[in-house]
Amino acid sequence: MSDRFTDSVEPIALATQGRTVEGKIPLADLKRLGALARSSQSLDDESKGASCEVEGIVEFTLCFDIDEGGAPRVGGNVSTIFRLQCQRCMEDMDYPVTLNVRLGIVPSREAAKSLPDSYDPLVVSGNEISIASILEDELILALPIVAMHEIENCSLGKTLVNESDKFTQQAEQEDLSSSGRKNPFAVLAQLKKNQP
Ligand SMILES: [Zn+2]
Repeated sequence: MSDRFTDSVEPIALATQGRTVEGKIPLADLKRLGALARSSQSLDDESKGASCEVEGIVEFTLCFDIDEGGAPRVGGNVSTIFRLQCQRCMEDMDYPVTLNVRLGIVPSREAAKSLPDSYDPLVVSGNEISIASILEDELILALPIVAMHEIENCSLGKTLVNESDKFTQQAEQEDLSSSGRKNPFAVLAQLKKNQP
């Protein structure tokens, strides 16, 4: 059975009933995430920072159920596209993220310690938790520490690749000429000359 998304849910009740919650939520609603993403932008470029990140949509499917051991859990997937600023060329970049979620529902951080390794904890201290906060916690972990285009897609990366090609060619040429100099006989001759 599948429910339309409503923000606050009772995860234990949903797990007992084996319910699935799915839907879409604007990235802009995830305030902590928006703040984090913007804080990683350069501060001298407010307009770019503001245009980034918050236009996207988060799509999610969360299946609540009880595992073989009788513990409530939630699994599913979350996907979105972050709009971030490439830290190499400073242009915007799309950063698609798809996460598999596998959470054990626990009442406290203390209880989280007894979860099997295959689960991350979802601490629900009261009865309810907002879907947005579940998604937000997962997505914050998925934010890259340093966002960068793949080198072949980066306007600055291309010049860097060319430069490094030049560098490699140069190094190879130097290597060739220096291998001539390092001819073992030449070294031997040098050693003999240096002898008193
Ligand atoms: Zn770039």
